[in-house]
Amino acid sequence: MPDSVAATLEARIEHRTAALNAEIRRLTAMLDNLLDPQVLLQPERDEAGRVVDFILVYANRAACEWLGVDVEHVHNARLREILTAIHTTDLVSLLIDTADTGRTMATNAFRVPRDSGSRWIDVRAVRVDGQISLAWRDVTEQRNVTRLLERRVRTDDLTSLLNRKEAIERIDALTSRTGQRIAVLSCDIDWFKTVNDTHGHAAGDSVLQAVAERIRGSLRSGDDLAARIGGDELLVVLHGVRDLDDAVAVAEKLRRRAAEPIHTAVGPITVTLSIGVTLARPSENTDALLARADAAMYQAKNGGRNQVVGKKS
Ligand code: GH3
Ligand code: MG
Repeated sequence: MPDSVAATLEARIEHRTAALNAEIRRLTAMLDNLLDPQVLLQPERDEAGRVVDFILVYANRAACEWLGVDVEHVHNARLREILTAIHTTDLVSLLIDTADTGRTMATNAFRVPRDSGSRWIDVRAVRVDGQISLAWRDVTEQRNVTRLLERRVRTDDLTSLLNRKEAIERIDALTSRTGQRIAVLSCDIDWFKTVNDTHGHAAGDSVLQAVAERIRGSLRSGDDLAARIGGDELLVVLHGVRDLDDAVAVAEKLRRRAAEPIHTAVGPITVTLSIGVTLARPSENTDALLARADAAMYQAKNGGRNQVVGKKS
């Protein structure tokens, strides 16, 4: 080859190499600028051709930060080594499937246990020229906020019991289910206005919280529920009661428990409950059921308070 042709080819190669290097720098800068972690993995196979691990060919800055490893250490590291540090290998099984079948992996809310507490990630993996492009988004914060909001929508701020709306929805669902024998206990604190007037609103709040906690602690099964449906009105729904006497016995236990002194910042305060109890009729409308429980509770008030009245359905 004449020297001039060789020189021209060499110049072209140099030019192309410089252009490719510039392209790599641009793409790397773009990947490092991504907020989400992104890695490129080379499957490592045993003699039988089975994928046993993955070697990190590339990891962007977000990936190094998320994995808690230095950029220098992450390249050519084995995925299992890194994942051992964050206590999960389930992800490797999913990646092996993508490496073997070429199926794109898209898994949301994948839990990654870590010493500092679980993280939740949405994961995507695709096979590209035998390698795996793996990206993930940490959705832990978003998930926590969503769960907190969902809880706040369902519960009462002061007592953390269910709120009225949630309680009614759950009772609707329970009464429309056949074969559910449920009892409703309508509980109202006696002379609660006097507690506020005598000891102050903050002490009244503490009393409400303590009574709510005692009721919650007395529930027998996970299906039973307790709600604050008004100022000092609490509602309890019991599952699997044999009959009205059975439900009245549980209400008696709640009444006695609530009447024990409550230790507040202003000293011990004692309150009592008036409780109306009734059983749901099959497929009964929730309004009618609650009205009957309330009527029983008012009977308890009129009968002198601090007592349980059972009303037949
Ligand atoms: P009764 O025995 O007839 O039930 O008398 P009561 O004084 O308890 O009267 P009622 O149940 O009608 O009044 C409830 C009172 O509860 C009214 C209000 O002062 C008080 N209250 C309502 N919500 C709150 C609250 O969130 N915190 C506090 N501290 N008090 C509340
Ligand atoms: Mg009251």
